[in-house]
Amino acid sequence: MHRRGDFRVTVTKDYLVFASAHFITFAGHRCEGLHGHNYRASVTIEGALDAECWFVFDFVVLKKIMKRLCDDIDHKVLLPLENPKIQLSEAGDSLAVAYEGRPRYVFPKADCALLPVPNTTVEMLAELLTNRLRAELDAMGARGLTMIEMEVEENFGQTAVYRVRL
Ligand SMILES: [Zn+2]
Repeated sequence: MHRRGDFRVTVTKDYLVFASAHFITFAGHRCEGLHGHNYRASVTIEGALDAECWFVFDFVVLKKIMKRLCDDIDHKVLLPLENPKIQLSEAGDSLAVAYEGRPRYVFPKADCALLPVPNTTVEMLAELLTNRLRAELDAMGARGLTMIEMEVEENFGQTAVYRVRL
């Protein structure tokens, strides 16, 4: 049978959550105070059907990868590595955070997740999770995938979506 339509699979699970602390910087000289969210991730993948299994991608594998990506940043302070207003400096087991040169926080290093993003907005977290998922999929040789869409919720009814064509 010739199929004209596209197939996509979505994984939205209660365990794809990460409870993390963060703060973001705004335009000018405004910076949020430290606070936390129960973030929740949801992913959709589009692509060709696997010729043997007749699925776009194995749910079990996708769930496992997503769980690991969430666990990696669960119960951490999320800190941006690429924010020119935020300076991070390590001293022993501690990580000092300064905002525009002024000391602001000191955290145990082990409790921090240093992320390659310019700000820990939910948009940047969605893009980061997408890039990490994509790296995992590439590493395992996944083929035929055409699109990844990552949604991250930081509060009820407050989400950002990042979509990338592969
Ligand atoms: Zn927030």
